[in-house]
Amino acid sequence: MKSIIDGFDGTYNDLIDTVNGILDGSFKGWLAHTEDGDHVHVTPFNDLLEHEVDDDGSCVCGPTIEPAPRNNGSYGWSIIHHTLDGRESAES
Ligand SMILES: [Zn+2]
Repeated sequence: MKSIIDGFDGTYNDLIDTVNGILDGSFKGWLAHTEDGDHVHVTPFNDLLEHEVDDDGSCVCGPTIEPAPRNNGSYGWSIIHHTLDGRESAES
């Protein structure tokens, strides 16, 4: 399992802020996660529910599934989940 936390630019202070936010539940970033390398789930961190990431996108949030080109020319799938706390509309 590989996880990459999106939402900080790599500076030490931002990393500390991000870790503190994860610990206290205030971090509202997005997590990219793959089990098999073919399906990459993008899920909101600290959402109102746990998202289902171990199948082909049958999560209760109704994720958007899109083909995702790889560097070698083949395609995998990106599965973009939707928040239940409405943070997308707050960001736009
Ligand atoms: Zn979901």
